Amino acid sequence: MTRTRSSSRLYQEATANVKAAAKAIDMEQKVRRVLMKPMNELIVNFPVQRENGEHQVLQGYRIQHNNVLGPYKGGMRFHQDMDLNEARALATWMTFKCALLNLPFGGAKGGVTINPREFSRAELERVVRRFTHALGENIGPEFDIPAPDMGTDAQTMGWMMDTYLNSRGPGERQNARRVVTGKPVELGGSLGREAATGRGVAYALRHLYGQLDRSLSGQSVAIQGFGNVGSHAAAAFRELNMKVVAVADVTGAIYDPAGLDVDALIRYATQNHGVVGFANCDRLSTAEFFALDVDVLVPAALESQITTDNVNSVRARTVVEAANGPVTARASATLEEAGVHLIPDILANAGGVVVSYYEWVQNKTSNRWTEQDIDRRLRDAIWDASDRVWAVRNQRGCSWRLAAYIEAAILLQKVYQLRGIFP
Ligand code: NAD
Repeated sequence: MTRTRSSSRLYQEATANVKAAAKAIDMEQKVRRVLMKPMNELIVNFPVQRENGEHQVLQGYRIQHNNVLGPYKGGMRFHQDMDLNEARALATWMTFKCALLNLPFGGAKGGVTINPREFSRAELERVVRRFTHALGENIGPEFDIPAPDMGTDAQTMGWMMDTYLNSRGPGERQNARRVVTGKPVELGGSLGREAATGRGVAYALRHLYGQLDRSLSGQSVAIQGFGNVGSHAAAAFRELNMKVVAVADVTGAIYDPAGLDVDALIRYATQNHGVVGFANCDRLSTAEFFALDVDVLVPAALESQITTDNVNSVRARTVVEAANGPVTARASATLEEAGVHLIPDILANAGGVVVSYYEWVQNKTSNRWTEQDIDRRLRDAIWDASDRVWAVRNQRGCSWRLAAYIEAAILLQKVYQLRGIFP
């Protein structure tokens, strides 16, 4: 699979989303200017010792887009294509995602330009610790709060937290655990955080089907990406009696029109680091995967997967953007014109940051909520945002994406109006 949108194009599209929403609500010029640029951009180069004894200097980033609503918040991505523009785009989307979900957080994103599959576990731990050390005071529990993203996980957050805490005085340590979210439950992570993004994807889809007065039972779905988001979304779809007929990941795509056994596939993919090789199913090319005649298509891997190159082959009636930016702007327009429902990323995958917020609150108040409580709150948060996006879309007759950005932009503008722009 190739990515046909460069990271600078990705960032242009992110700012185009902001511009379109600003225009639609006639946003004040000064607020528009502030939201068009990240507040802080940090590049760190840091050495890490590899298993062969050599030192390699790696590059990492943290982009802090906006903090008018609260501390900067966003994931850390470890990927070979990670760069400054990708981080800028992802950070911009985080500001709007948090605003849409009414969370008291701003937007940030960061990461390291490495392929984590080429690093041993011990090397990865050194990468995480040196990266955290290099970020220094640029992260903090009331300032900028990282979380997992592609190529990182709860363990990554555990190492990040430990490194950060070791730089604090003993009296500060307990209270600083919320410097990261998405950490292991044993370290103060929240129940339900790991599954939250995937479950949120399913809640967003349920909301849409509810509005359309249709049942999800028996609906077929194809999922690209079977990591944290894709696998938990698949499990949630299974609970809804949907049929997961195809799954694609970095190893390739598999297909069974009768429906894949999701639990067995999760076990297989975990053990074998990918879905290809799973028994009793067919292999598909990437082009065949995107052209499947399914009810729902869920890109949950990388950005720029549905582009002008392949959008005309898409036959799904609903596309849910579980990944960030998987459908380009032009491809989105083509899908909307064809009557395809496109649930945009800042709504569809917001479950992760919603439960990250719950984790942060639990840490701050030394509380522990039950998994059922968290899941109910998550569902209500996604449905509340979906209601508001649905209403804006119906009022204005605009795309799903624009409706979501408008809803977020209204709050951001209001807050700037009330606070004013310093000095
Ligand atoms: P992950 O690293 O756990 O999984 C990524 C998956 O994508 C893997 O199955 C991998 O094999 C697959 N993949 C990678 N390269 C691919 C390629 N070239 N072709 C096909 N598949 C490929 O990552 P994740 O946390 O599940 O994140 C996936 C997406 O969801 C990203 O866009 C991320 O920004 C977004 N997201 C994640 C969260 C979260 O809580 N983890 C929250 C919001 C959004």
